[in-house]
Amino acid sequence: MSLDLDARQRAMLEEMHVHVWWPESGEGAVSAAAPVAAPGPVRAAPKNIAEAMAAAPELAAAHASTPPATTIVARASAGDIEGMDWPALQQAVAGCVACALSKSRKNTVFGVGPAAPADGRPPQADWLIIGEAPGENEDIQGEPFVGQAGKLLDNMLKAIGVSRHGAEDGQPHKAACIVNVLKCRPPGNRNPAPEEVAQCAPYLRRQVELLQPKVIIAMGRFAVQSLLQDTVPDVVATPLGRLRGKVHQYHGVPVVVTYHPAYLLRSLPEKAKAWADLCLAMDVWKKRKAAETAQLAVQAEIG
Ligand code: SF4
Repeated sequence: MSLDLDARQRAMLEEMHVHVWWPESGEGAVSAAAPVAAPGPVRAAPKNIAEAMAAAPELAAAHASTPPATTIVARASAGDIEGMDWPALQQAVAGCVACALSKSRKNTVFGVGPAAPADGRPPQADWLIIGEAPGENEDIQGEPFVGQAGKLLDNMLKAIGVSRHGAEDGQPHKAACIVNVLKCRPPGNRNPAPEEVAQCAPYLRRQVELLQPKVIIAMGRFAVQSLLQDTVPDVVATPLGRLRGKVHQYHGVPVVVTYHPAYLLRSLPEKAKAWADLCLAMDVWKKRKAAETAQLAVQAEIG
């Protein structure tokens, strides 16, 4: 695909060490459509145990009686989570003590994106970026992808007109929500344990169901394995590079695989591949957007 990018976006790609051919114009140009959600601060939600407990005393009782760190304790059932709206899901994550990571975290990291409406609906975001788990800074700040890796991710997204805030600098952007597979930091940034992933999976699944993104970008080996474990045979043994360049599926949503920004910071040559992955994701988004527009036109004609 080709992208018609402005000078600011080209500068961002230069910063990423990505050199591409710049078309003067074309059908593949990125549209400057209005953002799908109004910009503004993310709706206040409890980020940590203390805030959640203040809002829900029953969580305080549950956490006070939490067994030793290696013991898995109850959380809301998967069935209950499936019925939650966006604020209820935020609250459930903020107070979750379902796995040992609740003992060592400073904050849960639910995700970030454009402001959610006040009526319980999720933010409107066509793009969903999914990473692995919070690191040290994310744990402290309660937000995913901060620091140098977060800055690189933001620049990559801005280069295709996408932003975690929906709009910046008065320019319209397509909106992205950014979340992790795990909502709590594994101590020392160790790999997540299978039981931790299993306990946390219903939250991510519900986020996807509520957001209904047009495309998911899975960043890094762990996120890719978690999302594609039911659809790609032997995904754990498959190198990430062999999963790139195809459109996968997660609960009916197209998934594009790419490298984690933290890896890209250490591997400059891979940035060009990440740019190709973003272009593939943009192709997917454009096709789905066009199909949606056509469907709405048909409905308008009928109704
Ligand atoms: S990692 Fe997920 S399942 Fe474990 S305590 Fe945090 S929110 Fe709950």
